[in-house]
Amino acid sequence: MIAPDLETTVERLAHLIAGARRIVPFTGAGISTECGIPDFRSPGGLWTRNKPISFDAFLADRAMRDESWRRRFAMEEAFGGAQPGRGHRAVAALHGLGKAPVVITQNIDNLHQNSGIQPENIVELHGNTTYATCLDCAARYELDWIRARFDVDGTAPDCLHCSGPLKTATVSFGQAMPEEAMVRAERAARDCDLFLVIGSSLVVFPAAGFPLIAKRQGAGLVILNRDATEFDDLADLVIRHDIGSVLNKVLDRVMTPSTAH
Ligand SMILES: [Zn+2]
Repeated sequence: MIAPDLETTVERLAHLIAGARRIVPFTGAGISTECGIPDFRSPGGLWTRNKPISFDAFLADRAMRDESWRRRFAMEEAFGGAQPGRGHRAVAALHGLGKAPVVITQNIDNLHQNSGIQPENIVELHGNTTYATCLDCAARYELDWIRARFDVDGTAPDCLHCSGPLKTATVSFGQAMPEEAMVRAERAARDCDLFLVIGSSLVVFPAAGFPLIAKRQGAGLVILNRDATEFDDLADLVIRHDIGSVLNKVLDRVMTPSTAH
């Protein structure tokens, strides 16, 4: 059902959260837009203007790798300075209460980590763009190090250990999904009693599968997203208000039980 107004919305969501033992927040681009991170897939977003470089193309051609790094560094102003928003802080608060042991995210911006949640409690379905790894030996590299070398001649360095190609730790188009993340996300969805979608339209594979898994196990499903999703009919509560405002108010309500129902 779609909540009619903000007050009713807050009341219903606070009630569901208060009654849940194990919540899985599932976050997408919508939670980070107030932090200045662009929604790549939205109309006018980066990926509609610049055709994404596929994983195969990245591997096959050094020029493509350099172009990929050029684009990444061009986005650094957005990613580098971004701070967690009200939505991230609300999720971190739920985590801190012990209600949401694991957070699943489609985002690559590291903002859940920056909000104080330990990396091992975050499942990143699409990886992380705030550092890089060697595709051959998995050694980790910081972006500043790569950029200092890239800025010299517009060429990205290779791995110091094995000469393999360095790439942001994200999952590219055409690249296999990270197996461990998929397994952990499925397990979290299976074991929760409330699946809370925040800022995702649930269209990008594999996002769509998880709410169904949770629902099939009898969990409640809440969808807090600007736009309609294909799963709205299945949801116990659909909220189309501003994410930060809603979660802020809900958290206030949950933290002060005397005013909750
Ligand atoms: Zn290497």
